[in-house]
Amino acid sequence: MQPDSSLWSEHLKHPIFSLIGSIADQAGQPCYVIGGYVRDIFLKRPSKDIDIVTLGSGINLATTLSKQLGKGAYLSVFKNFGTAQVKYRNLEIEFVGARKESYSRDSRKPVVENGTLSDDQNRRDFTINALAICLNKEHFGELIDPFGGLSDLGNKTIRTPLNPDITFSDDPLRMMRAIRFSTQLGFHIEENTLNAITRNAERINIISKERIIDELNKIMASEKPSTGYLLLNKCQLLKLIFPELDALKGVETKDGKGHKDNFFHTLQVLDNVAARTDNIWLRWAALLHDIAKPITKRYDEKIGWTFHNHNFVGEKMIPSIFRKMKLPLNEKMKYVQKLVGLHMRPIILAEDTVTDSAVRRLLFDAGDDIEDLMLLCEADITSKNREKVARFRDNFQLVRTKLKEIEEKDRIRNMQPPISGEEIMAIFNLPPCSQVGTIKSAIKDAILDGIIPNEKEAAYQFMLDFARSRQIPVVNPLPEYTDSPPKGS
Ligand code: ATP
Ligand code: MG
Repeated sequence: MQPDSSLWSEHLKHPIFSLIGSIADQAGQPCYVIGGYVRDIFLKRPSKDIDIVTLGSGINLATTLSKQLGKGAYLSVFKNFGTAQVKYRNLEIEFVGARKESYSRDSRKPVVENGTLSDDQNRRDFTINALAICLNKEHFGELIDPFGGLSDLGNKTIRTPLNPDITFSDDPLRMMRAIRFSTQLGFHIEENTLNAITRNAERINIISKERIIDELNKIMASEKPSTGYLLLNKCQLLKLIFPELDALKGVETKDGKGHKDNFFHTLQVLDNVAARTDNIWLRWAALLHDIAKPITKRYDEKIGWTFHNHNFVGEKMIPSIFRKMKLPLNEKMKYVQKLVGLHMRPIILAEDTVTDSAVRRLLFDAGDDIEDLMLLCEADITSKNREKVARFRDNFQLVRTKLKEIEEKDRIRNMQPPISGEEIMAIFNLPPCSQVGTIKSAIKDAILDGIIPNEKEAAYQFMLDFARSRQIPVVNPLPEYTDSPPKGS
């Protein structure tokens, strides 16, 4: 029995579908809309990428469609793949002939031959991705659902259409896709399918890093990214694709003293951050904030477990992780490094008395990323001890108030030095040398420590005193701050 087609007929009212159908009729080719687009209709997720599969030449249908749409339609033909794409307004329509695939052991690139619709549906990864709707006039709107994809959409289930061991071994990227869809859509992975991922986990090694990171980034962008990492862990994929994260797992106990499980803690921090921001790089910073804990872990008989400098060691580990995983080696990476390196600072501040000078230094080091850093640190409080959490929350509030006060007063964020290197060179008649740097940092430190305000005149007077103490003679004093003319003139 056909399910109630009113569910999707609304979507098919878009004139593009009847146009494609009539072109296919004229060519005598059966033609279907298939895959992710159909799935997303039922999930009420907006999508612009339409996949069309036809028995016969997809290029032929695309070429005719593009001609009939005329101005505003752009055709691209990929002869080698036997596919073609038409871009029209905000739509991207992909055409392909129905295909049958056979795989070899060492590659996810199959040998492809022409096939039936059913062959084409068999090669799809999941039942929910194998739904097809006919566009030919006679059967317009008929749903072809050989594997119960609609019912799996209803029970929120990810399941392969055929034997999952074959599906995953043929193209191991599908294992990542299963976990990504489960995380993205809040679906569960059917038991047999899940067990097959575990059995085939090692096959992931034939997949390129670029493809893996694409899926990981989709997991990272999901509402609750921990779901993906827990599944990756459960299926034994985590240690293969992300050994550094895998190494956070576990608790060691000595003299009855244990430490927290840093894997579960990290996932909690990640979810906390994800609940407050879509910024994927801040989410990456959350995932990586404690990444150096396993290698910095020590046991001290007096104080128990320590992870000294795990923030700085973590900051140093990030470029190699990013390089290996094919994440971008640009300012995004620098941002993640900066947050990981600084992530202990607000906590230490909040534990101690919050001095103006420490707040100023924090503002100076974090610059415009101060808000993101505070968010990360607040997310990092995962203790179950309510009193402790409340104390931290109050102290963070105090840090935030101070940050605001001091920023308004001293404008430390993105501070430009009140006296530039060029001015220092001119005043003391110095060539570019380390002495110039020493004078510059003395001024910066004096401002950050609250010895002088962030103002030019105060900085100038401070600099003169500093230079005097080091016997550096002033050659060209600034006239605006000088009461009497320089000696000797
Ligand atoms: P998204 O667009 O959110 O990444 P999608 O399922 O639409 O998800 P696409 O890459 O757009 O993914 O692929 C469209 C369709 O092609 C899928 O729905 C599925 O039917 C099929 N497909 C894509 N990748 C694979 C694969 N690795 N193995 C089998 N079928 C696949
Ligand atoms: Mg898609």
